[in-house]
Amino acid sequence: MHLRYAYRIYPTAGQRTALARTFGCARVVYNDALAARKEARKSGLPYPKSTELQKQVVTAAKKTAERAWLASVGVDPLIQSLRDLDTAYRNFFDSVSGKRQGRPVGLPRFKSRKDARQSLRFTRNGFRVRSNGKLNLAKIGDVRVKWSRALPAEPSSVTVVLDPSGRYHASFVVDVESDALPELDTEIGIDLGLTTYAVLSDGGVIDNPRFLRKAEKRLKAAQRELSRKAKGSKNRAKARRKVAKVHAKVADTRLDWLHKQTTKLIGENQAIYLEDLNVRGLGRGRLAKSVHDAGWSTFRRLLEEKAARYRRIVGVVHRAFPSSQLCSACGHRDGPKPLAVRAWACGSCGVLHDRDLNAARNILAAGQADRLNAPGGPVSPSVAIPRQARPVERGTHLRDLPRTGVRAAGAGGIPVL
Ligand SMILES: [Zn+2]
Repeated sequence: MHLRYAYRIYPTAGQRTALARTFGCARVVYNDALAARKEARKSGLPYPKSTELQKQVVTAAKKTAERAWLASVGVDPLIQSLRDLDTAYRNFFDSVSGKRQGRPVGLPRFKSRKDARQSLRFTRNGFRVRSNGKLNLAKIGDVRVKWSRALPAEPSSVTVVLDPSGRYHASFVVDVESDALPELDTEIGIDLGLTTYAVLSDGGVIDNPRFLRKAEKRLKAAQRELSRKAKGSKNRAKARRKVAKVHAKVADTRLDWLHKQTTKLIGENQAIYLEDLNVRGLGRGRLAKSVHDAGWSTFRRLLEEKAARYRRIVGVVHRAFPSSQLCSACGHRDGPKPLAVRAWACGSCGVLHDRDLNAARNILAAGQADRLNAPGGPVSPSVAIPRQARPVERGTHLRDLPRTGVRAAGAGGIPVL
C-alpha cells in the first residue's frame, strides 16, 4: 500500500529561485497542454494523446524562442505536471459519468502565478535521498530536510509543496507492507458530539481540544490586523503572510491531535463504527464553527487509513440511521429530540439514557449488524472497508442481534494519495 510521508524542507535562497522557476515552467506546460486540448475540442478534433501533447508542449516547445527557457529546468517535473492534467481530466469525466463518488469535479482550469499553493512532483529519476540526509532534486540541488520520522522504505516519488505561508514541504510516497496488529475482541461505536468531541459506546469520552479555540483567537486578531492595512501595501502583504502562518499552525496542531486520538482508538479496538455525518451540509449552518474545529472528516479519514494499515475495521453507519431516537436497551423508537435534550428516559422500558452514550451504543449495534448483513456473508476478505453501511431495518430489535464474531477483515488499504 502507498503511504505519504511529509517533511519540512529548507531550500537555500538559490534553490528557492530554482524551485520558483520550475514551478513556473510546470505551470506553463500544464496551461499549454490544457489550451491545446480546449483548442482541439473547439475544432471538433479528438483529444490529443498524452505522448503527443508532451512532444508538443515540452520537447518541441523548448526549441522555440518563446519557450526556450523550459530547457533550464528538469524535465521530470514537467512531465509530472502533464500527468496531473490527465488525472484532472479523468476525474472530471468519471465525475460526469457517475463513476466517481462525492462532490462533482469540474473541468481542469488554467493555473495562475497567484495560486496560493505551488507544487512539483519528481519521480525516481528526478530525486535521490543522499547518505548525508539531504534531498537531491534534479537541477535544484541538495536540499536540507527536517526528518521528523524515518522513511520506512525507499520512496517512489516526492512532491515539493510551497504553502501560502512560505513554507516548503517534501511529501514522499512510500510503498509499505501493512502492519497487521494482533487481533482484539473489542469493538466500539463512536458518536461525534458537540459538547464533547466524541462519546464512545463503552462510556469513554474524548474531550474537545480547547487549544484550538485559543489558536482561533490569535487567527482572528491577525485577520483584523490584515483588514486594516491599505490594499497593495507592503504591510498588507506582510500581514497576509502572518494570517497564513497562524492558519498553518492551527492546521498542524489539529492534525497532530487527531493523529493521537485515532492511533489510540485503532490500537485499542478491532472494529470502530461511526455515523456518516454529512459534514459538508452541517458546515454551512450555524454549527459551522464547531464542526470546522472538530475536523470530523479528517478524523474519519485518519481512522480509515490506519484501519487499512493495521488490519482493523472501520464501519460507517448511514446518516439516516436514527441513533438518537432508539433506546439502546430495548430498541423502542422514541422519536426525534431537540439537540438541547441531553438525557431522556425510554418510554417503553424506562431506562435513563445519556443522549450521546445511547447514540454511540446504537451506532455500535448498527455497524455490527450491517457487517453481518453485508453481501457475501459477515465479512468477506475482499471487502475493504464498508464505507457506507446501511441503516438497520425499522423494527429490528437491536438487542436480539448477535454480536459479530470478529476477525481481521482483509482491508485492502486506502492509497494515501
Ligand atoms: Zn427502552
